[in-house]
Amino acid sequence: MARKRKPRHVTRGLRFRLMASYALFFALLLIGAAAIFRARLSIVLQNQAEDTLAQQWAAMKGYMRIEDFGNKPAEAHWYYDSEDPDETFIVERLRRVFLLTDASGTNEMFISTTYESMGRESPTQIQQRVRIALASPGKVFSDTRYSEGEPYFIRAGIVFDEQHKAPYYVAIGTPLTGSQKILRDFTLFFVGFIPAALILGSWLGWYMAGRALKPVLAVAQTAQRISGSNLSLRIPAREANDELDYLILTFNRMIERLEASFQQMRQFSTDVSHELRTPITAIRGQLEVALFTAKTPDQYRDAIVNSLQDIDRLSQMVRALLLLSQAESGQLALQKSRIDLGAVVRDLTEQFEIPAEAAGVRLSAQVPGHCFANVDRVQVERMITNLLSNAVKFTPEGGTVRVTLRPDEDAVELVVADTGRGIPEQYLPHIFDRFYRVPGSGTAPGPDQGLGLGLSFVAWIVKAHDGAIDVESTPGQGTRFRIKLPVGEEAPAPPDAAAQPIMNEL
Ligand code: ADP
Repeated sequence: MARKRKPRHVTRGLRFRLMASYALFFALLLIGAAAIFRARLSIVLQNQAEDTLAQQWAAMKGYMRIEDFGNKPAEAHWYYDSEDPDETFIVERLRRVFLLTDASGTNEMFISTTYESMGRESPTQIQQRVRIALASPGKVFSDTRYSEGEPYFIRAGIVFDEQHKAPYYVAIGTPLTGSQKILRDFTLFFVGFIPAALILGSWLGWYMAGRALKPVLAVAQTAQRISGSNLSLRIPAREANDELDYLILTFNRMIERLEASFQQMRQFSTDVSHELRTPITAIRGQLEVALFTAKTPDQYRDAIVNSLQDIDRLSQMVRALLLLSQAESGQLALQKSRIDLGAVVRDLTEQFEIPAEAAGVRLSAQVPGHCFANVDRVQVERMITNLLSNAVKFTPEGGTVRVTLRPDEDAVELVVADTGRGIPEQYLPHIFDRFYRVPGSGTAPGPDQGLGLGLSFVAWIVKAHDGAIDVESTPGQGTRFRIKLPVGEEAPAPPDAAAQPIMNEL
């Protein structure tokens, strides 16, 4: 059933969030850059105003003389060529914002209207400044004042008259209107520019995030179509060799693994039902035949004995499956203890001597006196039994089966080699699968045929002991299973080994 996609709020989407972070980043960057630039511009303009005033101050000292002959109040005279337009301009500009008083600040010798309108310094302030300037020669005072809303930068200090070298207080000023306008224009420009840049940036972010996320959406849509029934679908790679391709590759590999395990599960269910059906059909057939055709008690007895054999096989299979699934799901814990593997191999080889002799197979073992390892005795016995029973079963009369046990550094190596019929190469990868029997084994399904579960157990036991198994086989010449089990550290004795289910026949 197709599930409806829940409507998601646009602000929760990755695209929106990418765009928003992009826009926020740009906004902060722009505002920061504008603020730094404006502060820097303001300093440059201030320096410019200071330079202009310093030049005007020097010009003022060049053109103005204070004359104090004692018989009348001191006077300031400007000496310049009134015919020269440049000099006239300089002096007139100087006098536009100008204050000249004596050191007491009370006798105003000159004050321009502009200066007056911005408010002159009080006599106390002037006296104080004169004192400071006398104490530290060259000292000037600067501040910003306003006349009719216009800002002016003011520079004040002292000059001396020609005759007595007495100090006089002078202040000159230059309008800051130009600098302020530049700053204002700059601010206005940015106030207008930042939102415009933001809108453009957001649109660009939205577009780029959309482009970047488009393949992700395509991947998600394909992924949505993949379900248990069509696991063969794959997301097509974009051949861009980027992070997204890596994601697609990882995803496809995951689907591959899922498909393989689904396939394995399906195969397993088919195999189980097939394996269970064969003995059930046989039992049913035998009982039906007995019911309709048997006349003597012996005929009934035969039917019951045959049915019981099939029932045995059924229950053996069910027990084996249960045990295997417990083992593979980790419910079957190993009960490790330090045992002499040499003794175990010798005992088991002896047990197989009778069936081997019956099959006309020569069985030999090459085992050191002692070979201790920390393993689960029951499971290791089951592993060796399965390998030996296969070797004897698949080796024709006159062949040999040889078991070798060798200590090897931190591990023990067990080799079971036979001169039997071997396994063709193409079947080798499957022999550890559940219910797998090499095709063309010759034996018809029946009580003599194995369950195809023995090597699955061997593989699990080796894995559970952190060991390794490999197999070499040449059809017609023989098979060689080689197992390496780590010796392991000595473990405390198992609580109760008898609690383990024993299925040595598997
Ligand atoms: P089975 O109960 O049939 O022996 P296994 O899982 O033990 O099941 O083995 C799987 C299949 O591998 C066997 O059916 C057989 O075809 C093949 N096989 C296992 N051991 C040998 C061997 N020593 N020589 C030849 N074939 C073997």
